Amino acid sequence: MTNTTPRLTGGCQCGAVRYAVTAEPEKPSICHCRMCQKAFGAYYAPLASVKKAAFEWTRGEPARFRSSSLVSRGFCALCGTPLTYEFHGVPAPGSDAADAVRHGEAPEAVASSPGFAAHDEVAFSLGSLDDPTLVPPVIQYGIEARMPWLASLDRLPGNITEDDMPEGAMEALVSYQHPDQDTADWPPASDEKAAR
Ligand SMILES: [Zn+2]
Ligand SMILES: [Zn+2]
Repeated sequence: MTNTTPRLTGGCQCGAVRYAVTAEPEKPSICHCRMCQKAFGAYYAPLASVKKAAFEWTRGEPARFRSSSLVSRGFCALCGTPLTYEFHGVPAPGSDAADAVRHGEAPEAVASSPGFAAHDEVAFSLGSLDDPTLVPPVIQYGIEARMPWLASLDRLPGNITEDDMPEGAMEALVSYQHPDQDTADWPPASDEKAAR
């Protein structure tokens, strides 16, 4: 896929891990399930799937936490940004692969056991996109755990960021967040951090 123009790019807050997506994301969603709430430290997780062949790590690799026997979640080991939800696949009931899951074998061991149907998609976090406005959600999952007051969030009073900062803070602020685009080198070679 090296000659394919990325449709979408994104990455973690610190810039150590970056990715590119070369296919239209399938079923962009928000998931309210309790596992996604914990994994994102948020009320819900925005995610969309693509075939693994259409997803590429362009800088670094995430660390992974295996949140269940079938799922690993990728995140930046340096800054903590949640990046992926990786469903490994389904073991056929009674198969060696099902045994491997029951005995707590690693995903790789499960995947190499007879009776394992590999999942060929990876889901990535939509808030980590360089432009999250491009992929609006079309469905909700895990609604059994949806916050009871979620629908009323829109009616809360709201401030823009500047209004919330102490006097002079915006002028003094230097952001170390990676910019919302690919960069040749990061952090920048000069002493001066990117002023954004
Ligand atoms: Zn990072
Ligand atoms: Zn979930």
